[in-house]
Amino acid sequence: MTDQRMALPPIELTPKDLSSWRTGNRGVDYVHTFDSGRPGPHVIVNALTHGNEFCGMIAVTHLLEQGIRPLRGKLTLSFANVEAYQRFDAATPFDSRFVERDFNRLWDAATLDGPDQTADARRARALRPIYAEADALLDIHSTTYAVPPMLIHEPLDKMQPLARHLHSPLHHVLLAGVKHPGRPLIQYGAFSDPQATPVALVVECGQHFAASSGALAVGVTMRFLDFFGMIPRDLAAQHPADPGMPKRYEVTDVLVAKTDCFRFAQPFLGFEDVAADTLIATDGDAEIRAPAGGCTIIMPARQPTKGRDVVSLARRLQ
Ligand SMILES: [Zn+2]
Repeated sequence: MTDQRMALPPIELTPKDLSSWRTGNRGVDYVHTFDSGRPGPHVIVNALTHGNEFCGMIAVTHLLEQGIRPLRGKLTLSFANVEAYQRFDAATPFDSRFVERDFNRLWDAATLDGPDQTADARRARALRPIYAEADALLDIHSTTYAVPPMLIHEPLDKMQPLARHLHSPLHHVLLAGVKHPGRPLIQYGAFSDPQATPVALVVECGQHFAASSGALAVGVTMRFLDFFGMIPRDLAAQHPADPGMPKRYEVTDVLVAKTDCFRFAQPFLGFEDVAADTLIATDGDAEIRAPAGGCTIIMPARQPTKGRDVVSLARRLQ
């Protein structure tokens, strides 16, 4: 593998001390709910689903420090996997994504009700009733490599007005059904039910440790809150969407490493278009090739691990 994939990126964002936000008002650490006292949706902005993805922490601490309160409904601000976050070490900055188990692969009832006693699963159980209240959830993430930021959501009719309102980032990745080994938070419960009204989406804001990722997270969060009428219009207007037409992709497959010897065939970083039958990776003795019609590489893992998802393959929709 090339140096470009394994080199450590500059660390422009570092963890802030969140101890002053530990005690919230929900009986769950690092969760704060603000009730306007007026009718309206319950909107959640969620940071640190992955412990080393600091841009969401930047956005949520911005809302807390600015004292932003909802004009209608309720606003919940949550820091999810704080235990992983607190393990950050700048010498090994990719190791604090989770403690023992990916918090973002736990969101089916069997796992949540199951015997797993990892710190990550216990934290998921504590947050489960909070997320279950949501009419809308913004789950803020970042990427291993410095690729264009993207929205990720199910291709459900109920998602379209919100995605159109956010507009940017200008890469929109549609994820139909559960393709990962473990259900992501945005596909929990009512979020993935086309008949239910709650909506959820991920924003991937850029590279984990880039200052630009924090700024992008703040802007998307403000447009998200504006869509639901939670903040004054002039505040949202300070964070306009980028001009241009979104590029839309549909995830067709999520590859899971079957062996300890999964190797990418090229130094993929993300959003490379590869032609039909191109060798993408080898997994032990097996060759993994691009499907007929080719595909786009989405979020390749830096260090593929047996049993975990290692890259998504997508097709361009327009
Ligand atoms: Zn993430």
